[in-house]
Parts: sequence; C-alpha cells; structure tokens
Amino acid sequence: MTTPVYTRSQLQGTACIQCGGEDGWLVPAGHVYTPTGARTAPLGWPVVAHPGCLAAES
Ligand SMILES: [Zn+2]
Repeated sequence: MTTPVYTRSQLQGTACIQCGGEDGWLVPAGHVYTPTGARTAPLGWPVVAHPGCLAAES
C-alpha cells in the first residue's frame, strides 16, 4: 500500500481529491492526513471532491 500524493490545490480544498479537477461542483469529502515526521502528528486537511468521484470511490 502506497501513500497517495496530493497536489497543493487538493490539500487546500480547491481541487477534487479524487481526480484533481478544479471545475464543477465540489463537496466536502472529509479529511486527508499527511505525515509530518516520525514523532509528530499527521497534518489533517479538509478536502473536497466531485459527488461523482465520491460515489466511484467505494
Ligand atoms: Zn473529481
């Protein structure tokens, strides 16, 4: 299992967390967490996604 790499736009909630698109209707999609180091807590980012991309996730 590999850790997904997100773009700055995805982490800042301006691009779909699934497909990376910035157009269209984006809805809150929970949070993603990026590691900040072995001894520090992961950083949580509130992210957005297209409804269709969310539905395809499962
Ligand atoms: Zn999308």
